[in-house]
Amino acid sequence: MDIVCTSEELRLFRTIGDVASALNVSCYLIGGFVRDKILGRPTKDVDIVCTGDGIALAHAVSDTFPHKPHVSFFKTFGTAQFRQNGLDVEFVGARKESYSADSRKPQVEPGTIQDDQLRRDFTINALAISLNESDFGKLIDPFNGMEDLANRIIRTPLAPDATFSDDPLRMMRAIRFATQLHFTILPGVFDSIHNNRERIRIVSQERITDELNKIMAAAKPSVGLDLLFRSALLHEFFPQMTDLSGVEIVEGKGHKDNFYHTLQVIDNTAAKSDNLWLRWAALLHDIGKPATKKFEDGHGWTFHGHEVVGERMTPRIFRQLKLPQNEKMKYVAKLVALHLRPISLTKEDITDSAMRRLLFDAGEELEDLMILCESDITSKNRLKVRRYLENFGLVKQRLKEVEENDKIRSWQPPISGEDIMQIFGLQPSREVGVLKTTIREAILDGLIPNDRNAAYDLLLQKASELNLHPVAGK
Ligand code: ATP
Repeated sequence: MDIVCTSEELRLFRTIGDVASALNVSCYLIGGFVRDKILGRPTKDVDIVCTGDGIALAHAVSDTFPHKPHVSFFKTFGTAQFRQNGLDVEFVGARKESYSADSRKPQVEPGTIQDDQLRRDFTINALAISLNESDFGKLIDPFNGMEDLANRIIRTPLAPDATFSDDPLRMMRAIRFATQLHFTILPGVFDSIHNNRERIRIVSQERITDELNKIMAAAKPSVGLDLLFRSALLHEFFPQMTDLSGVEIVEGKGHKDNFYHTLQVIDNTAAKSDNLWLRWAALLHDIGKPATKKFEDGHGWTFHGHEVVGERMTPRIFRQLKLPQNEKMKYVAKLVALHLRPISLTKEDITDSAMRRLLFDAGEELEDLMILCESDITSKNRLKVRRYLENFGLVKQRLKEVEENDKIRSWQPPISGEDIMQIFGLQPSREVGVLKTTIREAILDGLIPNDRNAAYDLLLQKASELNLHPVAGK
């Protein structure tokens, strides 16, 4: 074996090989498991390919274990899978695929291990290791995948144009592997991605976004996002992001390239947090800039209100990319909306009430917002960055102090909407909202203390302005 396995893995592979030999079929470890083991990356997904019926082999292997792990199988795809000792083991019969220009679906027929390796996307994903006793552990590497692994290169077994045109998702996969593994896409392969970029339109958005999320989850997402941009694949499915790119100069004044700034912010965020959605907030934090960009005479470039526009764009982009339409989306939109707030507090003379307001608005998301905001400091001027970071540290300290005093983050005003409805005999209505907001704002602004009596007095005063009178006591 060219790979290092645990004794449990070895025992499993011996068993699979023995069962396959008894059934008179050849079987092999193949694909990502072999690749990741050689690279020393952790992996739990085992792919087994055999000449013949993969479903029958999976059942026969499962039967050898005392507890007979449950085999799930898909007859149409000829695949079967079970879990054993924390490993996901998937079986499939070797197949030969041929694509015709007029159909996206390949013609599939049973094939040899060589046929099966030929249909794989990259040389590093086509490595196979035999499991049959006669040649257990023998590496089958028809496309020099080992060499490409050593040289850290992404290359297709067939001509790249054929590989990418047959299944355009492979273009996303090439970029995803380059990002995850720190590999280089061979120049001819990269050119082919550029040339075939429009073919990505025939791939479902869910599959594209799966790959995009794997890029976003990598240690340095900018690598993949930059490759997506330079190959112009990104323009095909995410034009709002490519709109961020470029620098315009008027009267000798330029602005920063917001695409590359955004990539830097994503990497900074990724260095501090594994949270995928926080990384998405970093990706979208300036997405409203192109729509709000203006050159103001004597002043320069401005992007007033880009955080509000960005907040509004977020649900549309989530829908377009088939990202979840749930609290994750709301979380991202909220961070986009608030991303300028902490840095605005670095100015002098900031009152406690401004601090309280941010604590209240950010609530549970405060730590994540601070990570995003700190990551947004990307000036090339080191002194400037240092000054910003120092000021930012002071803001963090003050936020902590105000929170310790006032406990604003999980705070509820002393009179609730329910209370207001009872006191004035109201149904849910606009008035209830106005009264509730009046109390909340007055406390956050420090106009009245945070207690029920003061809130009640203010409530009566505001209610009388609205011609409302209590029907019950406090
Ligand atoms: P990961 O687990 O990180 O997604 P992987 O390489 O294991 O990486 P899978 O999607 O599980 O990826 O695919 C397993 C194997 O199947 C790959 O290593 C590759 O050999 C093959 N494969 C997957 N998708 C394609 C594709 N679109 N075209 C050709 N071969 C593919």
